[in-house]
Amino acid sequence: MSDDTVFSKILRGEIPADIVYRDDLVTAFRDIEQQAPTHVLIVPNEPVASAAEVEPRHEAALGRMFTAARAIAEAEGIAEDGYRLIVNCNDHGGQEVYHLHMHLLGGRPLGRMLAHVDDGEA
Ligand code: AMP
Repeated sequence: MSDDTVFSKILRGEIPADIVYRDDLVTAFRDIEQQAPTHVLIVPNEPVASAAEVEPRHEAALGRMFTAARAIAEAEGIAEDGYRLIVNCNDHGGQEVYHLHMHLLGGRPLGRMLAHVDDGEA
């Protein structure tokens, strides 16, 4: 697959990022367009385009994304109040960067996730 997304460039050190966590399977850095007081992106070091393309060989990295999220949330001081983890997938999911990533958002009440279908917005 293509290894040419902005996130792959960050992982290769070709463009700067505020990296807050890195291990053998995943890397996390602050989103450039912060949507909450804490907004971190957690990405697998081995690129996979989207959730629609994950395979069994990605399971270790996908699991590590959750344990990294927990560690980052604790380090950011938002674990007790809570936070939201989001993975956008493909066009209808609103995915912009096709290197699978998890958004970790917190630091303020985030409200409900989406409008209800009955509200006429879905
Ligand atoms: P998504 O819509 O789930 O694909 O989210 C992509 C996210 O990547 C957006 O929230 C962008 O603000 C973020 N983003 C794009 N370029 C960069 C960058 N160079 N550094 C950090 N975050 C970025």
